[in-house]
Amino acid sequence: MLGMAHQLWQRARTLLPMQGFSFDRPLVVFQSDDWGRVGLRDREGLEELRTAGLNLGEQPYDFYTLETADDVGALSQLLKRHRDATGRPACIGMNFLSGNLDFAKMAGENFHRIHLRALADGLPEKWQRPGLFEAYREGVDAGVLWPALHGHSHFCQSAVQREIEKQTERASLITTLWKAGTPYIHWRMPWIGYEYWDPELAEDERFLPSEVQTTAIGAAVRHFVSFFSTLPTSACAPGYRANDDTHKAWAHFGVRVAQNGPGSSRPPHLDGYGLLHLYRAISFEPATSAELSVEASVNAASACFARGVPAVVSIHSINFHSTVKDFRSRTLDLVDQFLTALESKHGDLLYLHDGDIYDLVQSGRYATDSKDVSVGVSKRTFTPRRAGKS
Ligand SMILES: [Zn+2]
Repeated sequence: MLGMAHQLWQRARTLLPMQGFSFDRPLVVFQSDDWGRVGLRDREGLEELRTAGLNLGEQPYDFYTLETADDVGALSQLLKRHRDATGRPACIGMNFLSGNLDFAKMAGENFHRIHLRALADGLPEKWQRPGLFEAYREGVDAGVLWPALHGHSHFCQSAVQREIEKQTERASLITTLWKAGTPYIHWRMPWIGYEYWDPELAEDERFLPSEVQTTAIGAAVRHFVSFFSTLPTSACAPGYRANDDTHKAWAHFGVRVAQNGPGSSRPPHLDGYGLLHLYRAISFEPATSAELSVEASVNAASACFARGVPAVVSIHSINFHSTVKDFRSRTLDLVDQFLTALESKHGDLLYLHDGDIYDLVQSGRYATDSKDVSVGVSKRTFTPRRAGKS
């Protein structure tokens, strides 16, 4: 009953006018998930899993691997070529998993328990990515990549641990993947859920208890700090599954911006913890969308500007992967076209990251390498748009 009441309230809420922040310049923000998270272990992993009986290739995410130094370098080069009205380069907010499964340690216990390895301690056993960590840092130093927090394991550890203990068929499938150095392929096993959300429980019990979330977020933040030497300012929950307890824990660990998934068309607003909520408005995912239209994406961005809200663009890391399937070439080409069209249509366009939007809301300005930039920010009531694709 509670679950249904909550759903009704959520639906009703999207129809009510709401207070939010409006900006008097066209603002473009990219939010990109899953960086640093290993998947299929390249060709070798593909062969191993095919031998084990998996029919890989049915969905794009079967070929989710891990970015290489070249992938990250090519993205950085593209972003550096695009400049906004202040001369600042385009920037992508990258949401990192600050840990991966420690397959070697888990193998030592016959895969009966889950162990994580901090990204700062290197990639899991058998994973090779020469120069990748340097490529991240080079992009961050150049101001074109902006790291933020995604999480630690991405999947719900208690959901997986439960199957392992019962030695179910599900457990044997995920163990097969682990032996090949792959944590999971979500679409093949949606029961693994998301880091703070267990799909197998009753509807109103799916979010993990507050203290469990706080511990997980604390560990993820600690590993983020040891990798980037800075606290994350912005966070996006795996699968966008965040509740009030998630927000409270993020705020506790210094996060200032909560990223939310697409579909609601809500304006940026502050919550009771002081977190600024941003909502993705444009899905730019060439890897999973054969029919992606640059023109439609530009129009969707223009519609955001007309409402006074930032065009928040979602683009997952898979779009830049290249080792088993070349997702990267088409993506870079489309992003190039998208940015070129935005720049020519909106001469006063600004490329920002989540932290800049937070600064704008606080003070009406944000700092670039060379100067402070002021933007008119006002609080106003937004009437909801009719539900539809954007
Ligand atoms: Zn994710």
